[in-house]
Amino acid sequence: MESKFAELKNRLAEVTDLTAAASVLNWDQATYMPPGGGPARGRQLATLSSLAQDKFVDPEIGKLLDELQPWAEAKGYDSDEAALIRKTRRDYDRAVKVPTDWVARFSAHSAGAYQAWTEARPANDFKSVADNLKKTLDLSREFADFFPGYEHIADPLIDGPDPGMKASDIRRVFSELREQLVPIVKKITDQKEADDSPLRKKYPEEKQLAFGLQVANEFGYDLERGRQDKTHHPFCTTFSIGDVRITTRVKEKYLADALFSTLHEAGHAMYEQGVNPDYEASPLAGGVSSGVHESQSRTWENVVGRSRGFWEHYYPQLKKVFPAQLKGVGLDKFYRAINKVERSLIRTDADEVTYNLHVMLRFDLELQMLEGKLEIKDMPEAWHDRYKNDLGIQAPSDVNGALQDVHWYGGLIGGAFQGYTLGNIMSALFYDAALKAHPQIPKQIGKGEYNTLHTWLRTNLYTHGSKYTPNELIQRISGGPLRIEPYIRYLKTKYGELYKL
Ligand code: ZN
Repeated sequence: MESKFAELKNRLAEVTDLTAAASVLNWDQATYMPPGGGPARGRQLATLSSLAQDKFVDPEIGKLLDELQPWAEAKGYDSDEAALIRKTRRDYDRAVKVPTDWVARFSAHSAGAYQAWTEARPANDFKSVADNLKKTLDLSREFADFFPGYEHIADPLIDGPDPGMKASDIRRVFSELREQLVPIVKKITDQKEADDSPLRKKYPEEKQLAFGLQVANEFGYDLERGRQDKTHHPFCTTFSIGDVRITTRVKEKYLADALFSTLHEAGHAMYEQGVNPDYEASPLAGGVSSGVHESQSRTWENVVGRSRGFWEHYYPQLKKVFPAQLKGVGLDKFYRAINKVERSLIRTDADEVTYNLHVMLRFDLELQMLEGKLEIKDMPEAWHDRYKNDLGIQAPSDVNGALQDVHWYGGLIGGAFQGYTLGNIMSALFYDAALKAHPQIPKQIGKGEYNTLHTWLRTNLYTHGSKYTPNELIQRISGGPLRIEPYIRYLKTKYGELYKL
């Protein structure tokens, strides 16, 4: 059995290597590749991903999993062997249930749909993508039906990015959250707007990049095993546990953009760097879900990076880097500026309080489309209605309405958005557990010390990689199921002070 297990691990390492090689090519494409590399790069990525897929769905892997399962289970649920078999079995079953014919049809369709969206959005022409979107919806439903026995048609689609999470549970948690958030947003936006003009002066790029990376490094992002490069849309990518990279972009006229997106991506990267090195080149390496991943980016970006304590330590340093820009701007004014809450139309620019309203309405629209209760042609209107209802504003056109996000135009309908809000909810749930273990953490943050928090997260969360499902992790760390109370408490405390709620 040991030698069969070694053989399985070898085969999985080959799959991981091919996938990682594709990630290097993707990273290169998003950072340094000259435009002329485009067509060949598309082909190279397709070659690598089909090689990886072929190797993974090899019946020999299925046979090894069958043979090894009783042996691994005998070692106990918490053993790494049992976890590897469990996780690989899950991925394998998902991969073999989806016919290659569907994969080919979907990838051909989504390339065209994405291209059409890049033209439709600037032209505010939803009609030109409506047929594509209808086909995406059909393909999404077809995908769900490869997994019969689901409770809700969105479940198989959610199960990829957020394994084990069900539409019904998410819907319940989200509707509780929405009920709490809508009145808070109203109370805040009825007040005088915070002034964020100090952030909108000219901040030279080099200094912004250096400051952000310094903070990320002091958080615990290991630059011996990582680096930062520039791109259009910031992301984090993993080639191995020893090489986890972040990218960022800089707006010289808006200080908050590069800084907070660097801290966000560093949070993702610290999670990946913190995985148990024994899991290298296996399906256990890497974060377990989009929600848990997002909980870590949000912890370092918001819970830590936008806290008052954090800036008590860093603001004097920031003022030294940008003395002219921040002259006469006190800590209070700066802290209010980086936590400005406003009704806005664009999800990616939204503040901590309103962000989840943007996400939850997209999640609800996805469910309604999948259920057949909302037709594609009526979706833009439903979008505007929800913005009016939840955020009290409405986009003047579909550019910042139904055409806003790339997700449905480059991927499936279903499972695209819930991870963002699940992550926010979990960030507070996990942070709360860290504080119970180490009540001194906020004081340490005020002194620029992150070791206690980082070590706690590494020991209780990061090291497990994909060993446990998200629900198992939530239970292990917080002692109960997913719940919104710590997150609501966090928002009410922080914004209650800022806005006298
Ligand atoms: Zn993220």
